[in-house]
Amino acid sequence: MSILRERLIDVYYGATLPWRLRWNHRRARVGLSPVMILFYHRVADDNPSSWTISNRQFEKHLDWIGAHFEFVSLEEAQRRIALRYNPRPAVAITFDDGYAENCEQAIPLLVKRKIPFTYFVSTGNILTGKPFPHEADAAFQAPVNTIEQLRNISAAGGEIGAHTRFHADLGAVDNEDELYDEVVLATRDLAAEVGQSIRYFAFPYGLPKNLNDRAFEMCREEGLLGVCSAYGGYNMPGEDPFHLQRIHGDPELSRLRNWLTIDPRKLSVPRYTPEAMRAVATPESCEQEAVGVMV
Ligand SMILES: [Zn+2]
Repeated sequence: MSILRERLIDVYYGATLPWRLRWNHRRARVGLSPVMILFYHRVADDNPSSWTISNRQFEKHLDWIGAHFEFVSLEEAQRRIALRYNPRPAVAITFDDGYAENCEQAIPLLVKRKIPFTYFVSTGNILTGKPFPHEADAAFQAPVNTIEQLRNISAAGGEIGAHTRFHADLGAVDNEDELYDEVVLATRDLAAEVGQSIRYFAFPYGLPKNLNDRAFEMCREEGLLGVCSAYGGYNMPGEDPFHLQRIHGDPELSRLRNWLTIDPRKLSVPRYTPEAMRAVATPESCEQEAVGVMV
């Protein structure tokens, strides 16, 4: 990000700070503080990319988040959303894909600080060592985690989650068998290899166009506890706890700070709802109801 853009974000943050403080205070008072879920990819100091953050930056993120928010697991995040009660803004940490370098400093740091995290990996890439599709043509292809590393992460208290077999864009898959393999069989294979039950699934790419209603159903039928998207929404107590909306963790701290203290623009991001639920969903989100009561 350019210095100018970073400066603009700081100016925007400063100008909207009074609004943010008021919003967060009102929310906390009625137990409706947001639950935010971050997704990181690769934490490494060499070969930077738009999905890489340095170890130093990552530690700075954890320091800042820890000073202002409560770290929670995905399970605890869901519990608060389902209970419709969260008195303090909370943040859950997740990773996508499965980059080996994360095991050098980032994962040990989380373990040392007892910060819960969920680590989503693409089963086929892990088993074959094949680079992820978004790196296939890159000059540098970052090494992929091994199964042994995932077992160590699990043994250290991290939770392993599923991320399809080969990082498929499920929004483009309409073949039932192919979808079943990417969503269900890849998840079962991962559980068998890691020796841990898999409870969560994250959609690769994670934008609304990359989601798939049938995949939501398959995850429910398979007994998973929840699925994650990645288009940047917040999770408000009272919303659907099965679908967890996530925010990009990779960028600079100024952007993260802007998002986690509630960017008014991000509040209007529409929540993706599968077709079957759209029919029964109420038009008003918890957010609208709560603000309506308070203002
Ligand atoms: Zn991914």
